[in-house]
Amino acid sequence: MRFNAKAIILRGMNYGESDRIIRILVENRGKASAIAKGARKEKSKLREAVEPLTLGMYQLNTGRNMYIISQADIIDTFPAIKDSLESLMTSIFLSELVDEFMEEGNPDISTFELFISAMNSLEATNAKWEQTAVYFEVQLHVINGIFPDLHQCVLCGSTKSAADIKLDLENGGALCSVCSAHQTGEESYPMNSLFILDMASELPLDKFLQMEFDENNLNAAGRIISRFTSHYLCKQLKSRAIMDSTLKNRQS
Ligand SMILES: [Zn+2]
Repeated sequence: MRFNAKAIILRGMNYGESDRIIRILVENRGKASAIAKGARKEKSKLREAVEPLTLGMYQLNTGRNMYIISQADIIDTFPAIKDSLESLMTSIFLSELVDEFMEEGNPDISTFELFISAMNSLEATNAKWEQTAVYFEVQLHVINGIFPDLHQCVLCGSTKSAADIKLDLENGGALCSVCSAHQTGEESYPMNSLFILDMASELPLDKFLQMEFDENNLNAAGRIISRFTSHYLCKQLKSRAIMDSTLKNRQS
Protein backbone atom coordinates (compact mmCIF):
# COMPACT_ATOMS: atom_id res chain seq x y z
CA MET A 1 0.00 0.00 0.00
CA ARG A 2 1.24 3.49 -0.81
CA PHE A 3 0.00 6.72 0.72
CA ASN A 4 1.00 10.33 1.39
CA ALA A 5 1.17 11.61 4.93
CA LYS A 6 2.38 14.59 6.88
CA ALA A 7 5.14 13.51 9.24
CA ILE A 8 8.07 14.79 11.27
CA ILE A 9 11.42 13.04 11.55
CA LEU A 10 12.32 12.20 15.16
CA ARG A 11 15.74 10.66 14.61
CA GLY A 12 17.72 8.68 12.12
CA MET A 13 20.69 6.41 11.66
CA ASN A 14 22.83 5.42 8.72
CA TYR A 15 22.22 2.01 7.26
CA GLY A 16 24.20 0.10 4.67
CA GLU A 17 26.07 1.95 1.93
CA SER A 18 23.82 4.93 1.53
CA ASP A 19 20.48 4.36 3.26
CA ARG A 20 18.97 6.01 6.30
CA ILE A 21 16.65 4.32 8.75
CA ILE A 22 14.47 6.87 10.48
CA ARG A 23 11.94 7.12 13.25
CA ILE A 24 9.01 9.28 12.18
CA LEU A 25 5.89 10.61 13.80
CA VAL A 26 3.12 10.36 11.21
CA GLU A 27 -0.05 12.40 11.49
CA ASN A 28 -3.01 10.05 12.15
CA ARG A 29 -0.74 7.00 12.27
CA GLY A 30 1.59 7.58 15.17
CA LYS A 31 5.22 6.62 15.51
CA ALA A 32 6.78 4.44 12.85
CA SER A 33 10.09 3.34 11.39
CA ALA A 34 10.98 3.90 7.77
CA ILE A 35 13.87 3.41 5.40
CA ALA A 36 14.98 6.00 2.88
CA LYS A 37 17.02 4.13 0.31
CA GLY A 38 20.00 5.97 -1.10
CA ALA A 39 19.22 9.01 1.03
CA ARG A 40 22.89 9.66 1.82
CA LYS A 41 23.86 9.90 -1.84
CA GLU A 42 24.96 13.36 -2.90
CA LYS A 43 22.17 13.78 -5.41
CA SER A 44 19.36 12.12 -3.45
CA LYS A 45 16.20 14.18 -3.26
CA LEU A 46 15.47 12.56 0.09
CA ARG A 47 18.75 13.70 1.66
CA GLU A 48 17.47 16.80 3.43
CA ALA A 49 13.93 15.52 3.88
CA VAL A 50 14.97 12.70 6.20
CA GLU A 51 17.15 14.81 8.50
CA PRO A 52 15.94 14.85 12.13
CA LEU A 53 13.42 17.59 13.00
CA THR A 54 12.15 18.01 9.45
CA LEU A 55 8.43 18.30 8.77
CA GLY A 56 7.19 17.18 5.38
CA MET A 57 4.75 15.31 3.20
CA TYR A 58 6.16 11.83 2.74
CA GLN A 59 5.13 9.15 0.30
CA LEU A 60 5.20 5.97 2.33
CA ASN A 61 5.04 2.44 1.01
CA THR A 62 4.18 -0.37 3.36
CA GLY A 63 7.18 -2.68 3.63
CA ARG A 64 7.63 -5.89 5.55
CA ASN A 65 9.05 -4.41 8.75
CA MET A 66 8.93 -0.70 8.11
CA TYR A 67 7.73 1.91 5.66
CA ILE A 68 9.79 2.67 2.59
CA ILE A 69 10.00 6.37 1.78
CA SER A 70 9.90 6.95 -1.94
CA GLN A 71 9.28 10.70 -2.18
CA ALA A 72 9.15 13.70 0.11
CA ASP A 73 8.23 17.38 0.02
CA ILE A 74 9.70 19.44 2.83
CA ILE A 75 7.25 21.70 4.67
CA ASP A 76 9.63 23.08 7.32
CA THR A 77 13.23 22.42 8.36
CA PHE A 78 12.92 24.76 11.40
CA PRO A 79 16.09 26.76 10.62
CA ALA A 80 15.80 29.06 13.65
CA ILE A 81 15.65 26.07 15.99
CA LYS A 82 18.79 24.64 14.45
CA ASP A 83 20.51 28.01 14.93
CA SER A 84 19.78 28.11 18.65
CA LEU A 85 21.46 25.75 21.09
CA GLU A 86 18.56 26.08 23.57
CA SER A 87 15.84 25.38 21.01
CA LEU A 88 17.78 22.59 19.33
CA MET A 89 18.47 20.76 22.59
CA THR A 90 14.88 21.23 23.70
CA SER A 91 13.57 19.83 20.39
CA ILE A 92 15.87 16.81 20.63
CA PHE A 93 14.56 16.27 24.14
CA LEU A 94 10.93 16.54 22.91
CA SER A 95 11.62 13.98 20.16
CA GLU A 96 13.16 11.56 22.63
CA LEU A 97 10.11 11.98 24.90
CA VAL A 98 7.76 11.24 21.98
CA ASP A 99 9.86 8.28 20.90
CA GLU A 100 9.80 6.83 24.43
CA PHE A 101 6.16 7.54 25.27
CA MET A 102 4.63 6.33 22.01
CA GLU A 103 4.30 2.80 20.81
CA GLU A 104 4.61 1.98 17.14
CA GLY A 105 1.35 1.56 15.28
CA ASN A 106 -0.68 3.36 17.91
CA PRO A 107 -2.24 6.33 16.12
CA ASP A 108 -2.54 9.40 18.27
CA ILE A 109 -3.24 12.76 16.68
CA SER A 110 -2.83 14.74 19.94
CA THR A 111 0.87 13.95 20.29
CA PHE A 112 1.52 14.92 16.67
CA GLU A 113 -0.29 18.24 17.12
CA LEU A 114 1.46 18.90 20.42
CA PHE A 115 4.85 18.26 18.84
CA ILE A 116 4.20 20.51 15.85
CA SER A 117 2.91 23.37 18.00
CA ALA A 118 5.92 23.13 20.34
CA MET A 119 8.27 23.12 17.32
CA ASN A 120 6.52 26.14 15.79
CA SER A 121 6.76 27.97 19.08
CA LEU A 122 10.48 27.21 19.48
CA GLU A 123 11.02 28.25 15.88
CA ALA A 124 9.41 31.63 16.65
CA THR A 125 11.50 32.27 19.80
CA ASN A 126 14.01 30.43 21.97
CA ALA A 127 13.20 32.64 24.98
CA LYS A 128 10.95 30.13 26.74
CA TRP A 129 12.60 26.84 25.89
CA GLU A 130 12.46 25.58 29.48
CA GLN A 131 8.78 26.49 29.86
CA THR A 132 8.06 24.76 26.54
CA ALA A 133 9.84 21.60 27.70
CA VAL A 134 7.86 21.48 30.97
CA TYR A 135 4.59 22.04 29.12
CA PHE A 136 5.34 19.34 26.58
CA GLU A 137 6.28 16.75 29.16
CA VAL A 138 3.19 17.49 31.29
CA GLN A 139 0.95 17.22 28.23
CA LEU A 140 2.42 13.81 27.32
CA HIS A 141 1.42 12.64 30.79
CA VAL A 142 -2.08 14.08 30.29
CA ILE A 143 -2.47 12.46 26.84
CA ASN A 144 -1.38 9.10 28.25
CA GLY A 145 -3.66 9.40 31.27
CA ILE A 146 -0.82 9.29 33.81
CA PHE A 147 -0.63 12.91 34.97
CA PRO A 148 -0.17 12.68 38.77
CA ASP A 149 -2.81 13.99 41.15
CA LEU A 150 -1.00 16.76 42.93
CA HIS A 151 -3.98 18.40 44.66
CA GLN A 152 -4.13 16.07 47.62
CA CYS A 153 -1.85 13.76 49.52
CA VAL A 154 -1.82 10.36 47.78
CA LEU A 155 -1.55 8.55 51.10
CA CYS A 156 -4.01 10.26 53.47
CA GLY A 157 -6.03 12.48 51.11
CA SER A 158 -5.23 15.63 53.07
CA THR A 159 -5.55 18.81 51.00
CA LYS A 160 -3.79 21.03 53.52
CA SER A 161 -1.05 22.84 51.70
CA ALA A 162 2.45 23.06 53.07
CA ALA A 163 5.25 25.25 51.82
CA ASP A 164 7.08 22.26 50.40
CA ILE A 165 5.93 18.91 49.15
CA LYS A 166 7.58 15.58 48.53
CA LEU A 167 6.76 13.05 45.85
CA ASP A 168 5.54 9.51 46.11
CA LEU A 169 6.42 8.01 42.73
CA GLU A 170 5.05 4.55 43.48
CA ASN A 171 1.62 5.95 44.28
CA GLY A 172 1.77 8.59 41.55
CA GLY A 173 1.32 11.81 43.46
CA ALA A 174 2.39 14.27 46.13
CA LEU A 175 2.57 13.87 49.91
CA CYS A 176 1.35 16.20 52.66
CA SER A 177 3.81 17.41 55.29
CA VAL A 178 2.74 14.71 57.80
CA CYS A 179 3.20 11.83 55.35
CA SER A 180 6.39 13.41 53.92
CA ALA A 181 8.02 13.04 57.32
CA HIS A 182 8.41 9.32 56.56
CA GLN A 183 10.01 9.96 53.16
CA THR A 184 13.46 10.71 54.40
CA GLY A 185 16.07 11.27 51.75
CA GLU A 186 13.45 12.49 49.27
CA GLU A 187 13.88 15.93 47.74
CA SER A 188 11.36 18.65 48.74
CA TYR A 189 9.81 20.83 46.06
CA PRO A 190 8.23 24.27 46.47
CA MET A 191 4.43 24.22 46.56
CA ASN A 192 4.37 26.90 43.85
CA SER A 193 5.93 24.51 41.37
CA LEU A 194 2.72 22.46 41.55
CA PHE A 195 0.79 25.49 40.35
CA ILE A 196 3.01 25.60 37.24
CA LEU A 197 2.35 21.90 36.55
CA ASP A 198 -1.37 22.50 37.01
CA MET A 199 -1.35 25.35 34.52
CA ALA A 200 0.66 23.26 32.06
CA SER A 201 -1.90 20.48 32.27
CA GLU A 202 -4.85 22.79 31.64
CA LEU A 203 -3.87 25.69 29.39
CA PRO A 204 -3.20 25.74 25.65
CA LEU A 205 0.52 26.17 24.85
CA ASP A 206 0.35 29.85 23.82
CA LYS A 207 -1.50 30.85 27.01
CA PHE A 208 0.95 28.90 29.16
CA LEU A 209 3.92 30.54 27.47
CA GLN A 210 2.46 34.00 28.14
CA MET A 211 2.71 33.35 31.87
CA GLU A 212 5.83 34.46 33.74
CA PHE A 213 7.14 32.08 36.38
CA ASP A 214 9.87 32.28 38.97
CA GLU A 215 12.94 30.53 37.56
CA ASN A 216 13.42 28.28 40.60
CA ASN A 217 9.80 27.19 40.64
CA LEU A 218 9.86 26.47 36.91
CA ASN A 219 13.03 24.47 37.36
CA ALA A 220 11.44 22.50 40.22
CA ALA A 221 8.33 21.86 38.12
CA GLY A 222 10.60 20.42 35.42
CA ARG A 223 12.35 18.20 37.96
CA ILE A 224 9.02 16.94 39.36
CA ILE A 225 7.52 15.94 36.02
CA SER A 226 10.82 14.40 34.93
CA ARG A 227 10.86 12.20 38.06
CA PHE A 228 7.43 10.86 37.09
CA THR A 229 8.60 10.35 33.51
CA SER A 230 11.67 8.36 34.57
CA HIS A 231 9.53 6.30 36.92
CA TYR A 232 6.98 5.59 34.17
CA LEU A 233 9.55 4.77 31.48
CA CYS A 234 11.92 3.03 33.91
CA LYS A 235 14.81 4.97 32.41
CA GLN A 236 16.52 8.35 32.31
CA LEU A 237 16.43 10.24 29.04
CA LYS A 238 19.87 10.90 27.56
CA SER A 239 18.80 14.16 25.97
CA ARG A 240 17.54 15.53 29.29
CA ALA A 241 20.89 14.91 30.97
CA ILE A 242 22.66 16.71 28.12
CA MET A 243 20.12 19.55 28.12
CA ASP A 244 20.36 19.99 31.89
CA SER A 245 24.13 19.95 32.06
CA THR A 246 24.64 22.21 29.05
CA LEU A 247 21.88 24.77 29.39
CA LYS A 248 20.99 24.98 33.06
CA ASN A 249 24.56 25.23 34.32
CA ARG A 250 25.20 27.94 31.81
CA GLN A 251 22.33 30.07 33.15
CA SER A 252 23.41 30.01 36.77
ZN1 LIG B 1 -0.73 12.72 53.88
